[in-house]
Amino acid sequence: MLLPSVLFAQQAPALTALKQEAAAEVDGLQALTQQMVDQIFSFSELGFQEVETSRYVTGILEKNGFHVEHGVTGIPTAWVATYGSGKPVIAFITDLDCIPRASQKPGVAYHAPIIEGAPGHGEGHNSGMAVNVTAALVLKKLMDKNHLAGTIRLLPGVGEELVGTKAFYVRAGLFKDTDIVLGAHVSHQFATTYATGEGIWSGLVSVQYFFHGKSAHAAARPWEGRSALDAVSLMNAGWEFRREHLRLQQRSHYIVLNGGDQPNVVPSEAAVWYYFRELDYPHIKELYALGNTMAQAATMMTGTTVDHKLVGSAWPPFFNKVIAETQQKNIESVGMPKWSDADQTLAKALQKEIGAKVEGMKEKVEPLAEPAKDPAGGGSDDVGDISWNVPMVYLMYPANIPNLPGHSWANGVAMATPIAHKGSTSGAKVQAMTALDFLLQPELVKQAWDYFRDVQTKEIHYETFLAPEDQPAIEMNKEKMEKFAPALKKFYYDPMHYKTYLEQLGIQYPTIKAAP
Ligand SMILES: [Zn+2]
Repeated sequence: MLLPSVLFAQQAPALTALKQEAAAEVDGLQALTQQMVDQIFSFSELGFQEVETSRYVTGILEKNGFHVEHGVTGIPTAWVATYGSGKPVIAFITDLDCIPRASQKPGVAYHAPIIEGAPGHGEGHNSGMAVNVTAALVLKKLMDKNHLAGTIRLLPGVGEELVGTKAFYVRAGLFKDTDIVLGAHVSHQFATTYATGEGIWSGLVSVQYFFHGKSAHAAARPWEGRSALDAVSLMNAGWEFRREHLRLQQRSHYIVLNGGDQPNVVPSEAAVWYYFRELDYPHIKELYALGNTMAQAATMMTGTTVDHKLVGSAWPPFFNKVIAETQQKNIESVGMPKWSDADQTLAKALQKEIGAKVEGMKEKVEPLAEPAKDPAGGGSDDVGDISWNVPMVYLMYPANIPNLPGHSWANGVAMATPIAHKGSTSGAKVQAMTALDFLLQPELVKQAWDYFRDVQTKEIHYETFLAPEDQPAIEMNKEKMEKFAPALKKFYYDPMHYKTYLEQLGIQYPTIKAAP
């Protein structure tokens, strides 16, 4: 007498066949994937204000039988969507937010904002949910059909450009029962990495300093006043001198948030916002402490006071070797999308326009590289905090043009064109296939955890940068978004009437400058 489960295991379709089926199902959803890419591009919402984007994405998931919990961790635009039950729990995560002043007409190879000064997807986060939701819908179908146990979960990277949420997700225990996290991020290449990867990640804290002085008439009785702006200026000057004596791996930068109201009033309030980046937790803490010392010193020179607020933080990401090796095989089997002549023409024209190396789109998948021996540091992503709590990788899927500056209108050009559509479809295939690898092979889940415990966290233990009183900065970008929302609404994509956003905007693909 055989147990039914054993019988079932023998009858279940082989993993390879299931993965092929998943890829075919993703192809069958191409129109939906394209609509999601275009729709979220048109919403163009800044961090913490991803209201339309979250409503749209959770609407699709709820309609397809996912259970959605809204407003998790006190962040209105954060949510957790779940399908299935039992182990393993596989979570997909990807960002939602765009960046300021990156409004750009898609498919146009020179700077041409849809709305002057408005936010836009000048990094390409609009494609991430198209990747993850497509993969999740396909997995749901295959899990139902084949009675596969396991849980699929989706989470949004809210306010990623502000590195504002994942440490709070971790603190709230959102990953407590999660076995594997599969993140996805837009790129020009089709790749995954493990450990410190190419060594171009930093961790950081993002801190705002608020100085308080005393107002007075700046000409009639200046001796009565104490300038908060003086304190900001002295803190910045101090930091510039000290910069020379910091480790080469550090990156630090600031903007003045508030410089006072008008010159004849001694500024009683002024504020400056710093990012302190380094390669590991102790060095980041050191920079943070140094920033606090400089702020304090500036108050002593100016007779002012200061308080500070941590508004974002991120550990440097560290990715799981077992998952990366598994994912790499799927990347190689899916391969690069087939770029058309029009895609290549757009890519080359944009590269030429911005003075970058003109080489068009990438045609080949890169092999899995050895992690960098001496990481140099660079940008940050708050998925880092997740990666130190659960085995995780970050799939880079090819939905953008190579050699762009990042965080710029130029990075928005391809993001509602066939380049982004095809790249997202390819990314969705790898997400679905990699999830199947772990859903059907419990020993692989165990190996990923062995690497996590015995290698990654053998000596380094996660500690949050958050103080107990720190809360998500959910008010950020509210005013900016309210200012542009009425204008942006007129340009929301309408998939009922237009096949693509390019068609709705009346843009010929590609639009390039005429040869002189
Ligand atoms: Zn990003």
